[in-house]
Amino acid sequence: MSGEAAWDLVNGGSDETGRVADWVAGAARITVLTGAGISTESGIPDFRGPQGVWTKDPAAQRMFTLQAYLADPQLRVRAWRNRRDHPAWVAEPNAGHRALVDIERTGRLRALVTQNIDGLHQRAGSDPSRVIELHGTLSAAECLSCRARIPMAEALDRVAAGEDDPPCARCGGILKSATVSFGQPLDPAVFRAAQEAAADCDLFLAVGSSLSVQPAAGLCRVAVQGGARLVVVNAEPTPYDGLAAAVLRDPVGELLPRLTARLPAA
Ligand code: NAD
Repeated sequence: MSGEAAWDLVNGGSDETGRVADWVAGAARITVLTGAGISTESGIPDFRGPQGVWTKDPAAQRMFTLQAYLADPQLRVRAWRNRRDHPAWVAEPNAGHRALVDIERTGRLRALVTQNIDGLHQRAGSDPSRVIELHGTLSAAECLSCRARIPMAEALDRVAAGEDDPPCARCGGILKSATVSFGQPLDPAVFRAAQEAAADCDLFLAVGSSLSVQPAAGLCRVAVQGGARLVVVNAEPTPYDGLAAAVLRDPVGELLPRLTARLPAA
């Protein structure tokens, strides 16, 4: 590491970054909300960023809408191919995911709420009991009729064996990844846990999310109303920037390690 880079790390780079690094080091309970932007540097595209899946192909949004998925068998075939080829299967956690593990090791992490379905927080070393997966997980498939769950690997084995839209083996219903599509409610207990974590923190970091999907984005307001400082870390403007005590636009994988640089050794 060059001398300049070392100085940058210790001092958090810009004044604003250093100020937020002090808040991170001084906080007692930090709740983090992550979105697709924390995983783009691991090779998983987001939806709405400049290189986003929907920015490039707006029609792809239908695949994530429950009514369209139920009504259109061809769309389901495409969705299963997408799951089979999903970049999450080969992605590795990046420095952004690891910096959040550092916060947890110092005992400051109240909860890690994620909109992501890729499992990279747990693979980076975050305690699974502190990760609240608001929008479910790609690692399982669920029957939309009888709610039976199977590992995604099992469903993808059936796709590889020639079933291009594998039905539920128990009841014949339609199978889908165990993720929350548009038109599907969040698990009430999961969302309640996220609300409690947002209301019970002194610092709330919203990281790599366009904050355009409700009710997840509304957790920012819950946190501020509960007395927390809100920090938005995102390359593009979000609807919650005006509520934030600081807004940082650098790439998440570079910025989060600078924000955790002033934490005491765990
Ligand atoms: P989004 O696509 O709406 O927004 C991502 C934001 O991150 C964009 O504003 C983009 O500018 C920003 N961003 C991208 N890379 C960044 C980087 N390296 N540094 C800083 N900012 C960066 O994503 P969202 O808000 O999470 O909501 C979309 C929904 O998409 C979620 O429900 C989530 O379940 C799903 N999703 C998940 C994954 C995943 O699991 N990795 C990937 C795509 C979409």
